[in-house]
Amino acid sequence: MPKPPKLIMCFLRALLLVTAVTFPYSSVAAQTSYQPCIQFLKSIAADNDQPLLDLYIQSVITPDEAKKRLLSLTRKVNPAHSTARQALYLLIQYNIEQAEGDNDAKAMGYISQLKQLGEQTNSKWMIAEAVLAEAAELVDKRNYELAESMLSRVEILAREIGYHSLLARTLKWQGNIYIDRSDYKLGLQSYQNAYEIFSSCGDKLQIARVLSNISTVYIRMEEWSKADHYINQAIDLYHEQAFSNPFAEAILHINASVIDKYLERPEKRLAHIREAMVLAAKTSSYRVKLTALMNLAATQLDHNKPQKALESSLACLRLAESFNEPRGIANCNESLAESYLQLNQTDKALEHAFLALDTYEQRGNRKRYIYVSNIIADIYEITGDYKLALKYYKQYAVDGKEYLFDVRRKELFDLQERFEAKEKEHEIILLKTENSLKSARLAEQEASENMLKIGTAFILFILYFLYRRYTSISRNNVALELSNAELATQSMQDPLTCLYNRRYLEKWLKTASSQPALKTTLAVLLDIDHFKSINDKLGHDVGDQVLILLAQRLKNASCNGDLNVRWGGEEFVLILNTTEYEADSVLECLRLAIAETPFLTNVGEVTVTVSMGAVFIRSPQQLESEWESILVAADKALYSVKSAGRNGFKLVTC
Ligand code: GH3
Ligand code: MG
Ligand code: MG
Repeated sequence: MPKPPKLIMCFLRALLLVTAVTFPYSSVAAQTSYQPCIQFLKSIAADNDQPLLDLYIQSVITPDEAKKRLLSLTRKVNPAHSTARQALYLLIQYNIEQAEGDNDAKAMGYISQLKQLGEQTNSKWMIAEAVLAEAAELVDKRNYELAESMLSRVEILAREIGYHSLLARTLKWQGNIYIDRSDYKLGLQSYQNAYEIFSSCGDKLQIARVLSNISTVYIRMEEWSKADHYINQAIDLYHEQAFSNPFAEAILHINASVIDKYLERPEKRLAHIREAMVLAAKTSSYRVKLTALMNLAATQLDHNKPQKALESSLACLRLAESFNEPRGIANCNESLAESYLQLNQTDKALEHAFLALDTYEQRGNRKRYIYVSNIIADIYEITGDYKLALKYYKQYAVDGKEYLFDVRRKELFDLQERFEAKEKEHEIILLKTENSLKSARLAEQEASENMLKIGTAFILFILYFLYRRYTSISRNNVALELSNAELATQSMQDPLTCLYNRRYLEKWLKTASSQPALKTTLAVLLDIDHFKSINDKLGHDVGDQVLILLAQRLKNASCNGDLNVRWGGEEFVLILNTTEYEADSVLECLRLAIAETPFLTNVGEVTVTVSMGAVFIRSPQQLESEWESILVAADKALYSVKSAGRNGFKLVTC
């Protein structure tokens, strides 16, 4: 059965498997050097309320310190003195309780008191603060519908009374909902607006949080270096302020661990996720705990510790079940399916994968649905049920293609560009950097624009690839009527060229040393020159014909025991039986067989040339055991032929 090559699969998996958390926590904070956005609260507080305002700020930066000071301060500043004081006092207690995390109900108790107070005194800011905290609680439990309408109400109130920092915090929460629903455009827009507001009053801590949220958008978009850039900025800003808030820190570590995964920093990743687990245990946030557990399980799977991953996934499931939260339950079932798959317990893996799939289907969660379809396909493939595996791969490919085609992604690029430009401006103002830094940043901006272009090109390539895969899978649909055994044979063939595919080569290599016919061989990586321009000028159908005709020439030129494989796209791997003495002439003959006679397509003759990187191999054992390095050597050789002008070959000895 056709399946995209590993690299592409990795990309797709990465695209679909991201469980970062957005920064939900709110409030403003201060230390001597730190300027939070408290203009509004200052305006409602009396002069002698200042100590309480300071404590409020501290309850965000270092809630445990604030707790120690609370009692002594209330002896000096009577909270019952005015309603503003009462409100601040309740908010401080809420912040402390929230950060401590073991008594959710107690924390929310302060909020309902605040709301009551607001309603009694007709104070819009108090009501708005309280409703925001309530909405935040709902978002944490993923009850988005109700949360959304509450947030809209807070947004209106905040604008009406000019409470900017509350508005910014509301925007951030709205952004979190959008991002969780994969609406990156709206999400990024909300973060961007929140960032604007916090920047205008220089609230670095809130900026840090928004930057962390922005990094989650890039995580979801697979732009790892950008995600890394923003999370590092967030972490730097956060530490600059000597902040101590387990909830906030847990999120930073979870996100950093997700990024480490894809930037291939396994040790750092493990350290981050362990730190996140410790911190998550200190908070009351269900979402942070759940996400930390899911990421821990994924990390353990990647470190080849399926038993441990299973334990983490089970803990994850217990937690989600205790909150009776369907999406979390599905997420944990997904982790369980992957753990059981790695443990080779395919029945259980299937059971949990289907539980997750059903929930995602009911809830219309496309992204996870696609991802789980792929897990199910993998499980069926392992159990040898190629028919069902094909069905789920098809589901995966079709839905994945649509998902990728989503126009929102395109629009998002514009938004990113605009945001980056603004972000640069603010950085310059905020950090008062020297002129030299400014030019460095401009260079960076240029680099990130280039990244965008490369990213777009890559996504287009993937879309095209998926399209190709899908059409070849569709062709194979006919084969569904065939028996499993026949399907298994077909799965080794590239449907377009009828050459063997990468899967076959991988299997073949495992038995290479026992091939009696093999003695010395050439491993050749062959790539069509300027194939893209054939597609561009003459159309993809003609491109396809060229691939088919090239495959025929390769077959005609090969001898008994030679192997021709379509490696992917317009690249082929050939294993040719030859002696060292004849190797050069074999390659030259092959080159001429392609370059000298134009290909006859239905739009006329097309001249095709190829470049080849070849490695001479002395024994079949070497072919089997050193395949990875042989491939690297062939690729290097191919690259130098391309650089030297194409239509040629380079032979190296491994
Ligand atoms: P170079 O000489 O450097 O190899 O340039 P190139 O244009 O051959 O290489 P590039 O990697 O830029 O483009 C390869 C193209 O092959 C891109 C992709 O659209 C096309 N391609 C990949 N698979 C297929 C396929 O199955 N059919 C067709 N028609 N085109 C394909
Ligand atoms: Mg190529
Ligand atoms: Mg090429």
